[in-house]
Amino acid sequence: VAGKNIKLSLNIELQQYAESLMMNKKGAVVAIEPSTGEILCLVSAPSYDPSLLVGRERGGNYNKMMADPDKPLFNRAIQATYPPGSTFKPTQGLILLEEGIITTGTMFPCAHGFISGGLRVGCHGHGSPLPLKPALQTSCNAYFCWGFKAMIDKRGKYGSSANAFDIWKKHMVSMGYGYKLGVDLPGEYRGFIPNVDFYNKWYGAGHWSANTIISVSIGQGEILATPLQIANLCATIANRGHYITPHVVKEIQDTVVPAEYLEKHVPTIASHWYNDIAEGMRMAVTGGTCRLANLTDIEVCGKTGTAQNPHGRDHSAFMGFAPYHDPKIAIAVYVENAGFGATFGVPIGSLVMERYLRGYIPPERKYLEERMLQSNTIQFAGTKKH
Ligand SMILES: [Zn+2]
Repeated sequence: VAGKNIKLSLNIELQQYAESLMMNKKGAVVAIEPSTGEILCLVSAPSYDPSLLVGRERGGNYNKMMADPDKPLFNRAIQATYPPGSTFKPTQGLILLEEGIITTGTMFPCAHGFISGGLRVGCHGHGSPLPLKPALQTSCNAYFCWGFKAMIDKRGKYGSSANAFDIWKKHMVSMGYGYKLGVDLPGEYRGFIPNVDFYNKWYGAGHWSANTIISVSIGQGEILATPLQIANLCATIANRGHYITPHVVKEIQDTVVPAEYLEKHVPTIASHWYNDIAEGMRMAVTGGTCRLANLTDIEVCGKTGTAQNPHGRDHSAFMGFAPYHDPKIAIAVYVENAGFGATFGVPIGSLVMERYLRGYIPPERKYLEERMLQSNTIQFAGTKKH
């Protein structure tokens, strides 16, 4: 019996374009239409030619790909769990605003980093002290460390650091982290957001506080997320406070799309706070860490991420959406071992958004496209090239 025809949400031209930019790189690109949750492109790199899995040689080809250290069969877009790095900072800002720990005017100092109780988390040169939106613009580590500490150690409000962390985690889960989102593809991974028990086992109940787990505040430490989850968060910000479960099936012949792919999910954060985060992400593009994404006539919003990697060179990440008003695309880009977020994440993310919204890349941005097409970052991974 023949199966039913289905129509996918993937935009074939955008898919091919994003795949070409990810050639000779390891990582993923996920783009979502925020208003529908439809996945516009889903790239995992390196990939493989599906014709290798047809015909007499398929068994041998499959075994070769299974043994390939670059793991072409591993769908990084929905299965790779990465430290989100600074792409995590918008979620922190939202939780701190919702919990009343900060207002948009609350300032925290940055002494080239966060220094507290013998602990130091480095940062880079920018004005200090600074409030939330400039902190998002400059991706200030110290701001989000101080904010996290102000919440987790606020015993007067929460009773204990454990209780505060429990509330922090519930907000995080409501934004789609820590559990599978439920994409209509097999094999999705859930990422990881630790809970109180996890830290109690590790450090002992009552023996940990904000400083013990401070790297969580900047998307490092134990935190892991899939590129799909990061793209979904960006779609949530683009929608100013809700998301629809990302999916690739747009239509099924003679039937209706399952209700779960139409339903709005509303996180535990009041919708007006998202405007402040979106504004900070807009400032990152006009005058901060995402300037390479600044287009002449499309208002792009973005957030870079550079995630420390204990196994080698840092990972380069970006999440963004555009336009600022009534967004049509939200995107996450993650390039393994590619260094700063601004070096690969921002160019690839902004080129894919531009291609989708404008239909072409204008002459003044061709150099950036060329640079991405020509770059090879697999060479930094310590494994063989394709
Ligand atoms: Zn700073």
